[in-house]
Amino acid sequence: MRGRRRRKRAGRIFLTGLLFLLVSGISVGTAAIIWIGINTKDRSGTITGPVIFAQSEQIWDACVEAALDQERKLAAAEKEQSGQQKAEEDPGDTREPEASSESSELSDTENPADLRNAPKLRIVLDPGHGGPGLTDEQELGAIYRDTYEKYLTLEIARAMGEELSEYGNVEVFLTRNSDQALTLKERAAYAESVGADLLVSLHLNASLEHNFYGSEVFVSAFERFHALGAGVGNSILEELTDYGFVSKGVKTRLGSKGADYYGIIRECKALGIPALIVEHGYMDEDSDWSRMSSPEARQALGRRDAAGLAAYFGLEKGVIQAGLPVRNEQIPTAVVRPDTTPPEEVWYQKELQRDGRYLITLHGVDRESRVMYYDYSLDGGQTYSPLKLWAGEDVTQFPLSLTGTEQLVFRVYNNYELRTAVEEG
Ligand SMILES: [Zn+2]
Repeated sequence: MRGRRRRKRAGRIFLTGLLFLLVSGISVGTAAIIWIGINTKDRSGTITGPVIFAQSEQIWDACVEAALDQERKLAAAEKEQSGQQKAEEDPGDTREPEASSESSELSDTENPADLRNAPKLRIVLDPGHGGPGLTDEQELGAIYRDTYEKYLTLEIARAMGEELSEYGNVEVFLTRNSDQALTLKERAAYAESVGADLLVSLHLNASLEHNFYGSEVFVSAFERFHALGAGVGNSILEELTDYGFVSKGVKTRLGSKGADYYGIIRECKALGIPALIVEHGYMDEDSDWSRMSSPEARQALGRRDAAGLAAYFGLEKGVIQAGLPVRNEQIPTAVVRPDTTPPEEVWYQKELQRDGRYLITLHGVDRESRVMYYDYSLDGGQTYSPLKLWAGEDVTQFPLSLTGTEQLVFRVYNNYELRTAVEEG
C-alpha cells in the first residue's frame, strides 16, 4: 500500500511538473518537447534532422525541480489546513495528522536529490529505410499494397515514441522523423551521439513466396548485446502475439565472416550500443497485413512495441522512479548461433477415416530451433497449400480429402524458414 501511494504521488509530481512547464512556457532552444506532424506521404525528402521528442536534460531537471517545489507547497498547505482542522475539531487529539506523515514519507524517499539521480534510459527508435529515391530498395524497403515499408515504419516509430514518452525514466529519440535517407552507419552514429542505451529498428517483412507470416526479432549473437536485445525482444514479441501475430521468436544471423549479419546491429555494436530489429509482420501476407493495414492499426503496433519495452525495463506511465528493477540477464559466453539446418526426421502417415477423408500425421524434429509451419502439395510440388502452423511437439495431425490420384509432398519448416520435404512413395 505504501508503495502504491508513493507511486501515485510520484505520478502527480511528474504530471504537475509537466503542467508547470507548459503553463510557464519555458523555451529551451533546440531541446524543446517537440512533436512534428509530418505527412508520411511527403516525398520531398527534406532533411529535418533527427528529432528529440522526449524531455531534454534541462527540461527534465526543471521538471523535477518544479514538481518538487509544487509538491512542497501542496504539502505545506495540507499541513496547515489539517492543523487548523485539528484545532477546531479536537483540541485534545495528539495523533500525528495524516498530511505530516505523508510529507515526511516524501522527504524520506523522494527528496530532490533522489529524483535528480533517477535512472533515465535513452532509447533510440529507428524507422527502417527512408529516402526520396523511388527505385532504391534500401530506401523504400518492402513494396506492397501500393505503399512502401519506409512510410509505415515511420508511422509505427512515431506512435511508439509518443507512447513511450508517457513513461517516466526514459528519453526517446528518432533517427529520422521524415522521409529521409540515412545509412546504417549514420543511424548508429546518431544513437551514439545521444548516448543511447538501446536502439530499436522498426521494420515490416515480406517473403519470396509470399507465404510467411508472424513477428520476429533479430539481435546480436554476442555477449551483453545479445542478452539485452533478446530480453527486450521477447517482451515486445509477447505484446505482438497478444495483438494477434504468431511469434517466430528472437533470432540471430551471422555473416560470412562470423559477425552479425544485419548492418544496423553490427554498426551499433561497434559503438557499444545494443540494438534489435523488430520485424512486425509480413506486408505481403493477408492475415498479417490486416494487423497493419490502417493508420490506426500501425499506431496500435507502435503502442505495443512501447508497452513491451516499458514492461521489460519496469517503466511506469507518468512516474519517475528513483530506481528501476535490475534485470539479471544471463550473458552468453559463446556466440549465439542461428539455426542453419532444416528440420530432421520428417515423415508422414495417412490413415483412412470413417468420413472418407485421410488423417495425416506429419512428423518433424528440430533440436536447434523449433518446428513452426508446414505445407503440402497434391500435384507433386507444382502448387502448395498456404503455410499452416505446426500444432504439436514432434507431430502435427490434420485431415485431407484424397482420391488416390494425388502426388503428395509435405514440407516441414523451422522458425528460421528452413524446410525439409517428404514425398509420397
Ligand atoms: Zn525493412
